[in-house]
Amino acid sequence: NHGLTGKVAIVTGASSGIGRSSALKLAKEGVKVALVDLKDENAEKVKQEIEQIGGEAIVTDTDVSDMKRMEASFNEIIEKWGRLDIVFANAGINGKVEPIEDLSADDWDQTLNTNLKSTFLTVKLAIPYMKAQGGSVIITSSINGTRTFKSFGMSAYSTSKAGQVAFGKMAALELARYKIRVNIICPGAIETNIGENTFPNEEELKKIKIPIEYPEGSQPLEHHAGKPDQVADLVSFLASDLSSHITGSQIFIDGAESLL
Ligand code: NAD
Repeated sequence: NHGLTGKVAIVTGASSGIGRSSALKLAKEGVKVALVDLKDENAEKVKQEIEQIGGEAIVTDTDVSDMKRMEASFNEIIEKWGRLDIVFANAGINGKVEPIEDLSADDWDQTLNTNLKSTFLTVKLAIPYMKAQGGSVIITSSINGTRTFKSFGMSAYSTSKAGQVAFGKMAALELARYKIRVNIICPGAIETNIGENTFPNEEELKKIKIPIEYPEGSQPLEHHAGKPDQVADLVSFLASDLSSHITGSQIFIDGAESLL
């Protein structure tokens, strides 16, 4: 299966959505998967799902924006499996949805730290363990890292997602000498939990809606949001030797949503 069997992966944001689907997909391909997420019971559920299909996983709870806790997680993983080949830096939040004039500095920091600083930490901490044998890093940005949202209130999110693209490209350049590939995936709307509690009520929606018409069916290809499993297929491809000549690429997976 294109070099995946026996490899070790770390997947952040593995309890839910794109991270969960990708962790399952990699495990199916014979990859041992470290499930990294905030402490809750969902990561344990994903671990059980992986074990049910004969795969191997460990759970390590951490806040991806916290250097000390991330170091501890990496230590746990290396102690357990002694190597690291695949890094999926995927954890993220929409953050507080507020127009810039109302957004607090603390809310700005929360989004930037969770989405962007975490990406730096995840990649930085992986390098010592990947540089001997090479590997694949995949970063989840968004189509909104290179274009604007069709609503107000997502300036911090879009900035964090654009930062991930720039960081991923710099990392691809720096880490090529270690045969570590780095690619950035940019999903459009995907059916996950990320929107929960983001847009609380009609009043809030009115405040952030841009007064222009948004075309019917937000994705030309399928007229509905994508599925986490469809993103997981791309993650598996980028983790495998099938993508051995692809690095520094920004790959849209959005049913042409970004072209609207
Ligand atoms: P999700 O909410 O289903 O999953 C995100 C996971 O990240 C959750 O399990 C959450 O607990 C975890 N997480 C959040 N903050 C964390 C922290 N500080 N430390 C550790 N874990 C943390 O959302 P998803 O849609 O699967 O999101 C995954 C990635 O995809 C995010 O980076 C998101 O920005 C990106 N994305 C999502 C969409 C979409 O429409 N769903 C579109 C484009 C990009």
